[in-house]
Amino acid sequence: MIKIYSTLTRKLEEFKTIEPGVVKWYNCGPTVNGLMHLGHARSAIAFDTIRRYLEYRGYKVEYVMNFTDIEDRMIEVSNQEQRPVLEVAEEYLSYFRRDMANLNLKPATIHPRAMLHMNQMIESIEKLIEKGVAYESDGDVYFDVRKFEEYGKLSNQKLENILQEGTEDADNPKKKFPADFALWKKMKPGEPYWPSPWGKGRIGWHSECSTMSMLYLGETLDIHSGGQDLIFPHHENEIAQSESLTGKQFANYWLHNGFINIDQEKMSKSLGNFVNIYDLLKYYTPDAVRLFVLQTHYRSPIVFTEDAMDQVQITIDRLFDVILLTKNYVDESKEMEDADLTDLDNELLEKTKKAKDDLIVAMDEDFNTSNGLAVVFDYSREVNDYLRKAEVINSAVINETDEFFNEIREIFGFFEDFNSYLSIDTVEKLIKLLIELRGEFRREKNWEMGDKIRDDLKEAGITLEDTPKRILWKLTQSQ
Ligand SMILES: [Zn+2]
Repeated sequence: MIKIYSTLTRKLEEFKTIEPGVVKWYNCGPTVNGLMHLGHARSAIAFDTIRRYLEYRGYKVEYVMNFTDIEDRMIEVSNQEQRPVLEVAEEYLSYFRRDMANLNLKPATIHPRAMLHMNQMIESIEKLIEKGVAYESDGDVYFDVRKFEEYGKLSNQKLENILQEGTEDADNPKKKFPADFALWKKMKPGEPYWPSPWGKGRIGWHSECSTMSMLYLGETLDIHSGGQDLIFPHHENEIAQSESLTGKQFANYWLHNGFINIDQEKMSKSLGNFVNIYDLLKYYTPDAVRLFVLQTHYRSPIVFTEDAMDQVQITIDRLFDVILLTKNYVDESKEMEDADLTDLDNELLEKTKKAKDDLIVAMDEDFNTSNGLAVVFDYSREVNDYLRKAEVINSAVINETDEFFNEIREIFGFFEDFNSYLSIDTVEKLIKLLIELRGEFRREKNWEMGDKIRDDLKEAGITLEDTPKRILWKLTQSQ
């Protein structure tokens, strides 16, 4: 049974979906006004892994993640860079997609963009005005938070506290009440605009997610997620709008990931104080970045240091080596399929079964990747021991292990691209070494070994061509 800690109820709850076997999930995506940084990556990796786990447990996950392409910060960058908002959005969006793919983040089922949903958003605002919970004021439209009794329920605060803390744009004379928030913003000179019943303007950020999530997933979502910094006011405001519109609960489980802080004093690589993912991946593999994020529970804070990253790179490389070695023996052990099981074999089979169970227990408890990964690394040490000790690698045993490793890779999103670990540089060195050895054999007139090397290489897809001056080799099959 999967249990989820929901920010709304502040307790662990049994996970039940509205429609059996289907998870309708909206995750607040980034504003595309800059490069993907560690904060984005932390959130994206955490939720990508939870999604992968739910899929592993048999759910079909309808995962919607928006890209905010029109908002105050988008306009700021467009002014700074002296080019249209759309152009800024297109460029950073393409970088986001690149970095997401590099981190092996699965694309969402749908990635809606705010600019393309302006009409639906305007319709939602019109309905809110009709219901008397929103009002127009000199070309702006505001949500009247006093009309939504439960305002503050997600961030667990009363309206008095919210006022005391101070709200964004509180002194704005166009508002009836300081905590009211903008659904529609009147165009300022030089800003992009869309026509609306209230004149030229654009959507407010909080309206985007509320409209797009219900459009693609229905009036009640199973999961709504985002960073902790979005709880107030963004998600609080989404709830106010959505529930005022439908009269139904907006989302059943609210998941929020913790912050990631950079220990700036300990940075020596030229990553800067604001680590962007593209630069980070010049020093570390995507799997190391994923492991770094996932070794901490998604709700807890993380401190980023290069030392910690270096350590994690070593850890993940070790896991890779054991998985690769296992794959190797899956092929090699095929010939002895019917061998009797030894005590060592039985021991590993049992450990595989137990590790599978333990991983599920860990992940079922609010997706505790930290405990789950501890199970994985303990297990990989056991496998490593087995590979060293076993007289014969038993096919049935190693197949079970290989299958479990595949599941682990799928859940944590590790080693999507096995080939990326074997650089062309390494391949080149290995081929040259074999050509040299073949030369040695031939000089000793050991034609048999010389031919064997040539034939085995050919079987591996590498063709040698003896020319009078030198030996050429090629990886392609073309003649
Ligand atoms: Zn959002």
